[in-house]
Amino acid sequence: MNKNMKRSLISYLIFFALIFGVLYLIQGGNQNVNMKYTEKNFSDDMKAGKVKTVYLQQNAEVPTGTVVLGMKDGNRIQFYVTDVKEFKELYVRLRDSYNVKVIFEMSDVVRPSLLEKLLPYLIGVIGLVIVIMLFAGMQGAAGGGNSMSNFGRSKARMISDANNNVTFNEVAGLSEEKEDLEEVVDFLKSPAKYVELGARIPKGILLVGPPGTGKTLLAKAVAGEAHVPFFTISGSDFVEMFVGVGASRVRDLFAEAKKNAPCIIFIDEIDAVARRRGSGLGGGHDEREQTLNQMLVEMDGFSVNEGIIVMAATNRVDILDPAILRPGRFDRKIAVGKPDVKGREDILKIHTKNKPLAEDIDLHEIARTTAGFAGADLENLMNESAISAAKDSRKYIIKEDVDKAFIKVGIGTERRSRVIPKEDLKVTAYHEAGHALLFHLLDGVGPVYTVSIIPTGQGAAGYTMPLPENDNVHVTRGKMLNDIKVCLGGRIAEEMIMDDIATGASQDIKQATAAARAMVVKYGMSDELGLINYETDNEEETFVGRDIGHHRMLSENTAATIDREVKRIVDECYAEAKSILEENVNVLHACAQRLLEKERIDRAEFESLFEI
Ligand code: ADP
Ligand code: MG
Ligand code: ZN
Repeated sequence: MNKNMKRSLISYLIFFALIFGVLYLIQGGNQNVNMKYTEKNFSDDMKAGKVKTVYLQQNAEVPTGTVVLGMKDGNRIQFYVTDVKEFKELYVRLRDSYNVKVIFEMSDVVRPSLLEKLLPYLIGVIGLVIVIMLFAGMQGAAGGGNSMSNFGRSKARMISDANNNVTFNEVAGLSEEKEDLEEVVDFLKSPAKYVELGARIPKGILLVGPPGTGKTLLAKAVAGEAHVPFFTISGSDFVEMFVGVGASRVRDLFAEAKKNAPCIIFIDEIDAVARRRGSGLGGGHDEREQTLNQMLVEMDGFSVNEGIIVMAATNRVDILDPAILRPGRFDRKIAVGKPDVKGREDILKIHTKNKPLAEDIDLHEIARTTAGFAGADLENLMNESAISAAKDSRKYIIKEDVDKAFIKVGIGTERRSRVIPKEDLKVTAYHEAGHALLFHLLDGVGPVYTVSIIPTGQGAAGYTMPLPENDNVHVTRGKMLNDIKVCLGGRIAEEMIMDDIATGASQDIKQATAAARAMVVKYGMSDELGLINYETDNEEETFVGRDIGHHRMLSENTAATIDREVKRIVDECYAEAKSILEENVNVLHACAQRLLEKERIDRAEFESLFEI
């Protein structure tokens, strides 16, 4: 069976090579020949001085030929001539009478080699042989050997320890993430230590974050630190046109990994296979489900301490099948975010290590002006700068190179991570500071864990993360009101520093309104309307439009009262939140200022602002 497998693998290779060969020949035969271009056009272009080079090639045994013109504007024109000799005379005439300077070249007659003549027949014969072999192979498969399984041979690339020189030193910033992975490294170095103590190390680690933030790099660094082999495969490699191929690839991959344990399996872009099952659009999702199922089976199949760690990366955790997040699978999630100023400076340092910089380059300054850039963008920026310097034959990079590269990279990354204008950053800083101050100052909400103005990649310009201190079963009226005030705080802070108002707070407003509405119609917290549930929980009606459902049940009067009550609650919260922020306007300024400096501040630093 082994011999069988080898043979059909080779035949697949030949088969694909032939297909490419044929395509190439068909293409090469009349590569972009311009059938409308004639000697007349050529005369005109020569007269106009548009031609830079003329390359003439005569066909074998016939007077016809092909001409390739290199035009001064960089275009290439290829056309046929019926008589090479005549064309050459025409060219000489034009050159002499218009005194144009053109580079002329004429190739020897091209005679098709014997091979070229025979190739079409050869292809036919070989193709036939392959088809016969394939059929024979399939017949054999019925008897036990399965030659189709060769398609399933793992596409994973194994990077052995010796070839992997990435360590944590190559990963800048991300110190919390590295710390989280430290124990995994230690486990891979000496699994026995953990096994003896009966400790359970996570089998699967999911790295979540926007593109280019260093997820792949981080996974590789774990392998490099632990000196273990690294198997890498992309989720999209699993998804093939043949049903069952993905699943068998997964099997092969895990089998291969077990032979090389301890090791790391890294599945990049896992969302390609691990999308929520049963939600596939169109055909083909059966294949994906099989692949995913196989992956879950394999992950459940090896015991915890076999020394295999499966790492995976995605930027879309929201579309993943919840099954892969269960205990014993990818039970550890590590968020890899975009870098803050300090992180960006460190990343720049790494990627300029072997690039000579002129004295006018200040990496700190570059870090400050690249808010919103991911690690990959920064790497790209310095690479483009180096290219720009090389183009000018300089031995070092100057500020101008970086500025040029900045425009290039900035445009290229527009959709991934756009450069954020200073003014926008300021608005975001005040917005988040507004939320953060209220979290801190109001009862029952907060404390603040992190405040950040680094875009999340999910569309938010920044975020304020509270750290709820106790899990309350009952949410009180007071807490609900305070939640609404926190929601409104972002917009209020914006209003306090800007002449005009922006659209950034729509989500907050929506949330505040929904909370106020729930208080009135669901929790009986409005004196005027009392303890009556005015909600309509009929889900089908949402399809037609929720509001239609509401109004059918409520009298005009009640509906108007609800609206009035909701507005009253929001208005009162607004007024109170505003007065709190105004009382603490100094802290608000300090907080926004600090955010603009550092882009992300933690709890201790945030709280220290109140002591000034
Ligand atoms: P992801 O997998 O998150 O899309 P990668 O790990 O492929 O991102 O990052 C692409 C490149 O960007 C890396 O090879 C590295 O050169 C650079 N890079 C990204 N993040 C960092 C970082 N934190 N430190 C150093 N380089 C980084
Ligand atoms: Mg990647
Ligand atoms: Zn907000």
